[in-house]
Amino acid sequence: MDKINIKNLEVYAYHGVYPEEKKRGQVFVISAVLYTDLSAAGKTDDLTKTLDYGEISRQIKSFVMESQFDLIETVAQQLAERLLLQYPTLDKVWLEIKKPNAPLELSLETVSVEVERCWHMAYIGLGSNLGDRAEHLRFAVHELDKIAACTVLKVSSLISTPPYGYEAQGDFLNGCLILKTLLSPDELLDTLLAIENKAGRIRDVRWGPRTLDLDIIMYDDLIVSSERLNLPHIEMHKRDFVLRPLCEIAPNAVHPILRKTVAGMLGELRIEN
Ligand code: ATP
Ligand code: CA
Ligand code: CA
Repeated sequence: MDKINIKNLEVYAYHGVYPEEKKRGQVFVISAVLYTDLSAAGKTDDLTKTLDYGEISRQIKSFVMESQFDLIETVAQQLAERLLLQYPTLDKVWLEIKKPNAPLELSLETVSVEVERCWHMAYIGLGSNLGDRAEHLRFAVHELDKIAACTVLKVSSLISTPPYGYEAQGDFLNGCLILKTLLSPDELLDTLLAIENKAGRIRDVRWGPRTLDLDIIMYDDLIVSSERLNLPHIEMHKRDFVLRPLCEIAPNAVHPILRKTVAGMLGELRIEN
């Protein structure tokens, strides 16, 4: 991927655990690698088609000068997020923050932290079979989209499907969406559970009736198997009500374990049934 480099930008600022560091300040030296597609700018010679490294350097300088944290880890985390949010064409950012005069009674050149942060792509399954089902699903889309670190890129049509697992309940309305997010998988799961609660979800019967169910179907090509989170969703390839809406918005997304596309898995499921 193309990149723009900013090397060793010096900023006088006031981060540190010790009161002295907060009072007197010291020099911080910042480097950044900005990953973005430079081909349009390269072909047109147009500054508006690239990321302006002058403007970004000034942004970095003012953020580091004007904020105050104990840890350079926090400076790096917050600065990375801020840049990703502010510049939609920035896909990924690498940052290094050096503290050459850190108050250590040792002879060393510098200490530093490095972080790399990027936008992630997640596919979310939506379901409801209680109350105003369509309204609950709209609510979920809106709640997700209003989070700064989340952008809903596409929403599928909604389909009515018979209940799954526990049949003595009303039909579901199901859909899927594509989410661009800075949240980690765990943070995203917490966010989804909180939105379900806000929609009045009560967990009693397993697979029972619910106002809102939000599942992470896939998150990048990540494979996770923990007590609270399985990625991809463990049943996605067996569920017509997941694959059908997902196929409408992301037919070529690939299941990272089965190595099959959504369209392929849907085709196979139809043959089985
Ligand atoms: P299913 O997961 O089979 O669709 P469900 O959606 O009815 O069933 P819930 O009661 O909503 O199940 O969720 C139970 C737990 O599943 C959640 O608290 C969460 O910790 C866990 N979980 C594991 N993997 C995922 C995932 N990919 N997306 C959402 N929740 C998950
Ligand atoms: Ca579910
Ligand atoms: Ca769920």
